[in-house]
Amino acid sequence: MQIELPSTVQALLAALQAAGFDAFVVGGCVRDSLLGRTPGDWDICTAATPQQVKAVFAADRLLLAGEKHGTVAVLRGGRSYEITTFRLDGGYSDNRRPDSVTFVPDVERDLARRDFTVNAMACSPAGALVDVYGGRDDLAAGVIRCVGDARERFREDALRILRALRFAAQLDFTVEEHTAAAALELRDSLQNIAAERLFAELDKLLAGPAAGRVLASHGAILAGAIPEIAPCLGCAQGPGHIGDVWQHTAAAVGALPAEAPPPERRTLLWTLLLHDLAKPACRSVDKTGRARFPGHNRRGAALAGTILRRLRAPAALITQVPELIAMHDMPLPADDPAVLRLLARCGPQTLRRLVFVKQADLAAHAQTPAAVYRRQEAERFRQAAERLQDACYTTQRLHVNGADALAAGIPPGPAVGRALRALLERVMDGALPNERGPLLAALDELALPPAKDAPHG
Ligand code: ATP
Ligand code: MG
Repeated sequence: MQIELPSTVQALLAALQAAGFDAFVVGGCVRDSLLGRTPGDWDICTAATPQQVKAVFAADRLLLAGEKHGTVAVLRGGRSYEITTFRLDGGYSDNRRPDSVTFVPDVERDLARRDFTVNAMACSPAGALVDVYGGRDDLAAGVIRCVGDARERFREDALRILRALRFAAQLDFTVEEHTAAAALELRDSLQNIAAERLFAELDKLLAGPAAGRVLASHGAILAGAIPEIAPCLGCAQGPGHIGDVWQHTAAAVGALPAEAPPPERRTLLWTLLLHDLAKPACRSVDKTGRARFPGHNRRGAALAGTILRRLRAPAALITQVPELIAMHDMPLPADDPAVLRLLARCGPQTLRRLVFVKQADLAAHAQTPAAVYRRQEAERFRQAAERLQDACYTTQRLHVNGADALAAGIPPGPAVGRALRALLERVMDGALPNERGPLLAALDELALPPAKDAPHG
């Protein structure tokens, strides 16, 4: 297959070649092109040193933050293109960054430092593939395999352990046996990796189309990044469940409905990943011998908050995920007054998310009559919440306001708010229509002195 290079990339490669330096596109863009996918970014590697790259592109705007490691980024057409000198990585004393880099003249040696065979291919401007590690065969077979000795590679940089799972989830590949064994053996070294980098890889893993399968197969490896996963492995559940807590978790991540819109998916996937992590700590066995997990919602919400803060997740996730986990197991009401009160408490967006969480959670249960009933319950609730989302469940939506309350004779101060909330309760109960006439009459009634106050619902 011929790799089609965008014209800007062709121009950058041609400029380097014209100055006498070998240059290739390399890594993810070659992998994605061979898979028939559109690459996210185009990385270039070259024999030119950073000094020489800067001279070739003297007329361009350059970003030099990575210069020490051999990378000069050229800005063209609003995008940046990283041009990195062929290099070897020196020793790794901290498990994450090379202590030093050494520039080398040939592309083959540069490919040797790359993580996986499918990421270790380069392509010349003429379209010749440089594939010394069998990346193309591994792409065809759907395999993530370390370049060289897996244990050595994971010792150099533990983040690669998580990257292996991430690419498997993104590409729907399997992790080659030796690579998986080394990842398992060295999983605890993930603790030496910066939290932000762990988060970024986990986030991409979860968004991958094969995330459910990868989680199910490699829970023990993931426990190196999130130790709270370990007690879930083998934690047995009741007969309504398929497998242990971790198998259920993996299945729930894999069962997120396709209709869940992209901006919501991240919140939902993290919620599903973390939703049952408190089960092992809450497990008890009742008189009939059945496993129960009382309180795992609340404890799970707190645990999720702790984990997400530790991973330095974005603030939105740290608030949204625990909120959903705290509610993930509660029964959903079907009657309008109760649905309106939930809308008032959580807002329509959180409830929409909650329904997706429930659908995925329940799809990952054995399809017992109870599970089927709860899925129907979730669907009825979804319809009711949607129908009622513009209904009156806040005092702002009442067709009377504070001025009306004062005009009716309610004394200024907190009594005004109390009166409006009393009206709202009656409107949500369906006992009073949200129309000015009846609302004003109700306000008049509330304003009467207590002695003459007529009882009301
Ligand atoms: P993505 O589509 O996620 O950007 P990518 O393959 O481009 O995928 P990057 O993280 O952008 O991934 O890295 C670019 C290339 O650099 C990889 O394809 C790989 O060759 C190499 N690489 C990146 N991180 C590492 C690492 N930790 N160890 C070894 N090689 C790495
Ligand atoms: Mg990339």
